[in-house]
Amino acid sequence: MSAPGGPGGSRVGIVVVSHSRALAEAAVGLAAEMLSGQAVRIAVAAGLDETTFGTDAVRIAAAVEEVDDGDGVVVLMDLGSALLSAEMALEMLADDVRERVVLSPAPLVEGLLVASVVAAGGADRAEVAAEARAALLAKDTHLDEAPVPEPGPAAGGHLTGTFVVANRHGLHARPAARLVGEVRRLDADVTVRNLTTGAGPVPAGSLSRVATLGALHGHEVEVAAVGREAREAVDRVLALAARSFDEAPDPAEEPAGTAPSAGPVAASPGIAIGPAAHLRAASVPVDERPAGPPEQEQRRLADALAAVRQDVARARDRTGPAQAGVFEAHLLLLDDDELTGAARAGIDAGTSAPGAWARAVAALESQWAALPDPYLRARAADVRAVGDQVLRALAGEAPDRGVDVDGVLVADDLTPVRAGALDPRRVLGVALAGGSPTSHAAILVRSLGIPAVVAAGSGLLDVPDGTPLVVDGTAGRLLVDPPAAVVEEYQARRRELAGEHARDAAEAPRDAVTRDGRRVEVGANVGSVADARAAAAAGADGVGLLRTEVLFLDRDRPPTAEEQEQEYRAVLDALAGRPVTIRTLDVGGDKPLRYWPQAAEANPFLGVRGVRLSLTRPDLLATQLAAVCRAARHGPVRLMFPMVTVVEEVLAVRRLLAEAAAPGPVPDGLRVGVMVEVPAVALNVEAFLPHVDFLSIGTNDLTQYTLAAERGHPALAALADPLDPAVLRLVAETASRAAGRASVSVCGEVAADPAALPVLVGLGVRELSVAPSAVAGVKAAVRRLDSGACAGLARRCLAAAGAAEVRALVRTASPDGP
Ligand code: PEP
Ligand code: MG
Repeated sequence: MSAPGGPGGSRVGIVVVSHSRALAEAAVGLAAEMLSGQAVRIAVAAGLDETTFGTDAVRIAAAVEEVDDGDGVVVLMDLGSALLSAEMALEMLADDVRERVVLSPAPLVEGLLVASVVAAGGADRAEVAAEARAALLAKDTHLDEAPVPEPGPAAGGHLTGTFVVANRHGLHARPAARLVGEVRRLDADVTVRNLTTGAGPVPAGSLSRVATLGALHGHEVEVAAVGREAREAVDRVLALAARSFDEAPDPAEEPAGTAPSAGPVAASPGIAIGPAAHLRAASVPVDERPAGPPEQEQRRLADALAAVRQDVARARDRTGPAQAGVFEAHLLLLDDDELTGAARAGIDAGTSAPGAWARAVAALESQWAALPDPYLRARAADVRAVGDQVLRALAGEAPDRGVDVDGVLVADDLTPVRAGALDPRRVLGVALAGGSPTSHAAILVRSLGIPAVVAAGSGLLDVPDGTPLVVDGTAGRLLVDPPAAVVEEYQARRRELAGEHARDAAEAPRDAVTRDGRRVEVGANVGSVADARAAAAAGADGVGLLRTEVLFLDRDRPPTAEEQEQEYRAVLDALAGRPVTIRTLDVGGDKPLRYWPQAAEANPFLGVRGVRLSLTRPDLLATQLAAVCRAARHGPVRLMFPMVTVVEEVLAVRRLLAEAAAPGPVPDGLRVGVMVEVPAVALNVEAFLPHVDFLSIGTNDLTQYTLAAERGHPALAALADPLDPAVLRLVAETASRAAGRASVSVCGEVAADPAALPVLVGLGVRELSVAPSAVAGVKAAVRRLDSGACAGLARRCLAAAGAAEVRALVRTASPDGP
């Protein structure tokens, strides 16, 4: 009998000797599973017939001849007389054949699995036999309470890198065999270590030793190498790991202890451990009978709509402008004639307000749910969310009652209103089946400091309430009902992180200086005076981005110069002498203002937004510039313009600034800069430099425009990676050309990404602006860097083929930072 074969594969044959044919055949079946179609010659000599136990030397000898192809045969046996029969069989073979046969003392099942995989990888019979013999090591190590790590090249003078096992079944025989095959060819001593469990290091060239790592899906593994080709070995292993060891995904099966999906995505850092707590929209009872005449029901509906409108507007104002778009969409739905008109008609026809509203919502939701475009189809959730809120208001219930859970919140997705209302004391972590890390819900959850993963797959929704979950929002792992030992590891890691966080916070007020003495200014992105106070308390070196649009939203008229001046001065006061970068109004078709109606646009992100819009209403822009000038007389202000594309725009806003400052001159200390969000600015930066004091790279928009991937689009989260070399080249171009002529900062979300930090520093960026909650961690990370090594890393990243390779290169760098 042969395991399923394809072209190629080992020429070493394997014979399975057992008292039971069923046992032998089942073991071969198991081995075939590991081989995924690779050819290995395996013969069974087991049982006296199908059902009678026993071993037969003649049959064993025939089996050896059957699989011997000149490269030898390894014979695996179960017990007792199997050995005697095998030895007798050797006597029956021709001398040359006998010399090529190894009788292996390996345990039958484990030995067969390992031997098959190694044979498939092309190993010779001595290696196959040695690997089979070591097959019990995996079990030994696993059952041993305190595995003794092997001294290896990791002891010093080595190169290291880390990867996270993406394979659904972990680093099992098939991917491990690819790993072994990859490193054996190189002139380097390579070891691997499971950083998640602490197992290892073990030689990466030994399949049975690699198996002892017990590296499961989501575990972090360190590869270390010494020798002439050490660099190549580490790079190759990381590249292989990035390709999931060339293993095709198997969506049909779920390994125990891992997320039931193709893989969750990190959305908010930290570790949460707790029982699954499903967010189920508690259904609101709908009474179809009207409580009074239609006019009374119409009033009920109108009042409920008004109340929800207020809730949504409040929620929008609590968040930054990046999320405001979703709330605006909800507000539009509340005013949607089709929806409210259908409900009103239902009331006129004699239905209660809740009954008529529920029907109107259900009709619209099913229309949207039937749309062919998946993105638009997903918007049906918005209809449902808004419908739900109005029903609660009609029933006199609190709008956020549905977030009443304790533990790890499990949901398909979260509405921004719900995300913003989460209580971090009760919601320990968040695991979403859908969503993306740049979704509005994710940004809100991040600002609350709740660890979260998104895009975990719909299987997550089948996990019963109360199931123990571990959310690793830093590495993007979700463990479902993991073994107690793993939970303990994560608990220890969580304690460690809390300690680190406390230490970082204590150090945060100090300057962040790299090991080689380069200062990196770490400011904060804020939207309000409250945010500014939080930033100052967090040790921010200033405000790198004040999103003034928060002041302009949800009102019936624009704020006056006095109102604005008051706000800007309050932010300056909060920062007590540290610089504040005030960005002028950044709205557009994606975030319309009530008092500033705009024509509908097919592509609002490519439309009249940012400074383009401000220049259509110079009176409004002049008011804002006047307020900024006044505030600048009280503290260090930097004035920044968003969405700039061409130099003429800068010249126009500078003219307006001079007029707005009148009767006096533009205040002395007021520095003027532009955001680099449009690739054209980065590519043509020389033309801008004579007109600006600083540049601030908005990677959120720069990424969406460079990669033509709408920010926050759930299906494009992976594509829109700001570490794509194309984006990095624009950052590099901006930083290198501006060096010595204008300061360059990065204020997009990527500035707080630990993987991005060494690359940005390496590209010459010396100012960052991040969420207040990220300031301490970023400053601590800066202190671990060496700017020279960062420059080397950045050069390699610029030459990378894609974002995945950039991230792999960063991981390859030493854990202490390059
Ligand atoms: C950016 O685009 O990176 C940025 C910081 O601006 P916003 O997120 O407000 O568009
Ligand atoms: Mg932007």
